[in-house]
Amino acid sequence: MHEMPVTQALLDLALKHADGRRITDVYLEVGRMSAIVPDSVEVFFQYLSEGTLAEGADLHFTIRPVEMTCADCGGEMDLSEWVTENPQVVMQQAFKRGCQCGGRNLRVSGGVSFGLVGIEVEDDGSD
Ligand SMILES: [Zn+2]
Repeated sequence: MHEMPVTQALLDLALKHADGRRITDVYLEVGRMSAIVPDSVEVFFQYLSEGTLAEGADLHFTIRPVEMTCADCGGEMDLSEWVTENPQVVMQQAFKRGCQCGGRNLRVSGGVSFGLVGIEVEDDGSD
């Protein structure tokens, strides 16, 4: 359950950005390879934000697909057809297929991130 400390860090960051204003929305980016489960983040966020200015804020997740780059030609693999698959399956398929150039020296180049993209705060302290 590594989402707990991760969510705490994210909440701290959001509160810092909010600078004393009430947070209404939190925007997050989650890579398919990040091993972060949005549902868990949501649960922890509700729990951890209780009594803070982020209590009741809506979380919005943008899921980033797995991206792989060929080290031989620098080309990006097109993995869009497997975007809904388990990331492990996507990687297996990518390695099986190899790059268009015939190279199999593939690297994960995207979809590993998890982080805060932005927040929305209430206009003024009217509650
Ligand atoms: Zn290539």
